[in-house]
Amino acid sequence: MLLAGPPLIIMAMEAEAAPVRASLGLEQAGERLHPMFPGLVWATPKVCLAVNGIDRRYGVDSIASQPAAVTTLHAIQRTSPSLVISAGTAGGFARRSGFIGEVCLANRCFFHDRRIRLKGFDRYGDGDYPVQDMSTVGTKLGFRMGTVSSGNALDAPDVDIKKMDLTETIAKDMEAAAVAWICEQFAIPFTALKVITDLIDSDKATADQFSRNFAAASERLGEAVKELIYMISNKGEINDIRT
Ligand code: SAH
Repeated sequence: MLLAGPPLIIMAMEAEAAPVRASLGLEQAGERLHPMFPGLVWATPKVCLAVNGIDRRYGVDSIASQPAAVTTLHAIQRTSPSLVISAGTAGGFARRSGFIGEVCLANRCFFHDRRIRLKGFDRYGDGDYPVQDMSTVGTKLGFRMGTVSSGNALDAPDVDIKKMDLTETIAKDMEAAAVAWICEQFAIPFTALKVITDLIDSDKATADQFSRNFAAASERLGEAVKELIYMISNKGEINDIRT
């Protein structure tokens, strides 16, 4: 596969994706990636963005790992990207000095809830997928470099927290590792860019924090994605990628 294409951003929720598309100037209508799946893509020569779309039966965003993998597969086949970025909101950890609105860029990527206590399968379950080293760009932009860990639950039982402490997770989401696994199969560079909406180790309920902070975090995500795409598209120069 020719990997000369633009960077590809993969997102789970339409309300997260709308401000990102606005900041990147992706104003056209999205195109279906596959007739049987709700995923949509916005493709331009400079940048592509795909969202998992609305679940046909439940009428909500197709969040969590399976739709993320399917969308990533279809979008890679459609756009032959040079880099894939899993972008979205995430939970953070106060005890690792996380804060609401913090922008995190991955340098490791795990699953924290695939508990398979069998020789060999335990490491397979954890994933620990290849992540592109973007620490120079990330640090320049003031993003926090660290582990992004994914699971199929919004809550975090103690056993998951323990795993995330071991991997020093700074952003807990529901999609990044699934995107990373597909990228590994294609040998396409991968990273994840996440903005913190809620602190997992706070006494306030995750769902309440998420709802309260979601809109502001998604706006911040729009700016952060734009900054990152500008940097990597123009080798350090901030120019308008639409021109
Ligand atoms: N109840 C929400 C549903 C969002 S679920 C709603 O009102 O629509 C959370 C989504 O945001 C997932 O796509 C996930 O990747 C991300 N996310 C944000 N905070 C998270 C957390 N603490 N744990 C897991 N995922 C989180």
